[in-house]
Amino acid sequence: MKRTKLAVIAAAVALTLGACGSAGTDDENPIDNDVASDAAAQFEDGTAMKALAEAGTVKIGVKFDQPGLGFKAAGQDQPTGFDVEMAKIVAAELGIAADKIEWVETISDNREPFLQQDTVDFVFASYSITDDRRKVVGQAGPYFLTGQQLLVKKGSDIKSVADIKGKEVCSVTGSTSLKNVEAEGAKARGFETYSQCRDQVLDGAVDSMSTDGSILLGYAALNPDELEVVGDAFSEERIGMGYSQDKPELCQFLTDSIKKAQDDGRWAKAFEATLGKSGAETPEPPAMDSCA
Ligand code: GLU
Repeated sequence: MKRTKLAVIAAAVALTLGACGSAGTDDENPIDNDVASDAAAQFEDGTAMKALAEAGTVKIGVKFDQPGLGFKAAGQDQPTGFDVEMAKIVAAELGIAADKIEWVETISDNREPFLQQDTVDFVFASYSITDDRRKVVGQAGPYFLTGQQLLVKKGSDIKSVADIKGKEVCSVTGSTSLKNVEAEGAKARGFETYSQCRDQVLDGAVDSMSTDGSILLGYAALNPDELEVVGDAFSEERIGMGYSQDKPELCQFLTDSIKKAQDDGRWAKAFEATLGKSGAETPEPPAMDSCA
């Protein structure tokens, strides 16, 4: 059952990115968020929401090298992708328009420290909810579900996770993916970013790259003649929103903001405009955890 659902999402993403070539060139503001004009008045004094609404700006950590999720090429003003659209939905509830968001590039390994040190207010960066992470930061959601797969050079002997034992497989330090690859018996190689890891596959320096299917399909679409995604998903990744544990009130706010977008159709529109750009079937939005 779980596998089937993940496979549907993977297929939708493949169709999409294959058809449009690169999700990195998406429209900068594909969904219309109603930016609350009197946002600060709605929030209680002393809350993190009130402070952000009064400041009129928010620092959001996103990936810059993951087409379809969080992507910003040199010279591009704003990042694009599904994670980015989820972040804009939340900012709009604070009365902050997209052009007032300070986008901060986040890699997998610095997401917890960036939240703990207030380098960013929120992380929307293919950030799986895990028990370990919830010990040190807040994570609301999930707003998206995906699962770990394998990216290989076309024609590779690796067809599924059963084939990676003893093989050189790269992923990214600080990710759930690197740990899973180790657990599957591969010779795990950790890099700082997924684009560095992808380059190792293209160069033939490693046998495969492994992480969320939603990330891999974006890379496969950029090099469709050389790269492909293989095998069923072998993990479930519940992608959530990171915030500081010093501001627990943010959990309910984040959850309510995304729930509103799920209910009024903006969540689906954001999917269609990014990961689902070719009009592939949009998944049902996931149920989110309670904050209590
Ligand atoms: N979703 C996984 C994680 O949060 C892998 C993707 C990533 O590293 O951003 O660890």
